[in-house]
Amino acid sequence: MKKNGNLIVISGPSGVGKSTLVKRAMAELPDLKFSVSCTTRAPRDGEADGVAYHFLSESEFNTRLENNEFLEHATVFKNHYGTLKSEVTDRIAAGEEVILDIDVQGARQIRKAAESDPVIRNAAQFILIAPPDLPTLARRLAGRNSENAEQLDLRIAAAAGELRNFRIYDYLIINDELEKAAGELISVLKSIRLRTANIQEELFQ
Ligand code: 5GP
Repeated sequence: MKKNGNLIVISGPSGVGKSTLVKRAMAELPDLKFSVSCTTRAPRDGEADGVAYHFLSESEFNTRLENNEFLEHATVFKNHYGTLKSEVTDRIAAGEEVILDIDVQGARQIRKAAESDPVIRNAAQFILIAPPDLPTLARRLAGRNSENAEQLDLRIAAAAGELRNFRIYDYLIINDELEKAAGELISVLKSIRLRTANIQEELFQ
């Protein structure tokens, strides 16, 4: 059966365990393609260029911005992030399933793009990963030891803002227990594949 593409937008505050959940889902559903974003932030330990992100200088990022190469872009914690059209557009048109790990500003821009682009409208589904509560998130972030105190405060304040916008997403997954949240995410992704909007051909003619 011929399928249309899916554009899975996943957001969630930094420290919520989103990348772990996305990795689990990708291991279970190998057809999911991760959209590698551009960023001006420095790589963390273990983050390879072109795999975790395309790590760009400010001027490289601005050149791509001027060339209109981004489907969406935002400034998050003083760094620039953007989704390349080349990671998404052709793939979903070809019926593939692309997953974007982006913040709430980016999710809003994809919602907006969907208004005028029927391929995006048909494909886009929005999932928010949330912590059980903000103190738990603060503890998890501090334990990660990858941000300084100022960055930690910024991320906790941003988290509260992001979570208040939960209704712009179609699905909410609370990551209180990793196995349970991973199972829920995989179930949501499998259900998304069963949408009638996903079927390209006319059936039962
Ligand atoms: P981190 O620096 O911790 O990898 O990501 C910080 C935040 O930026 C996360 O919320 C992540 O989802 C978001 N982010 C990563 N890539 C993009 C992107 O291409 N666009 C937008 N809007 N946000 C992104």
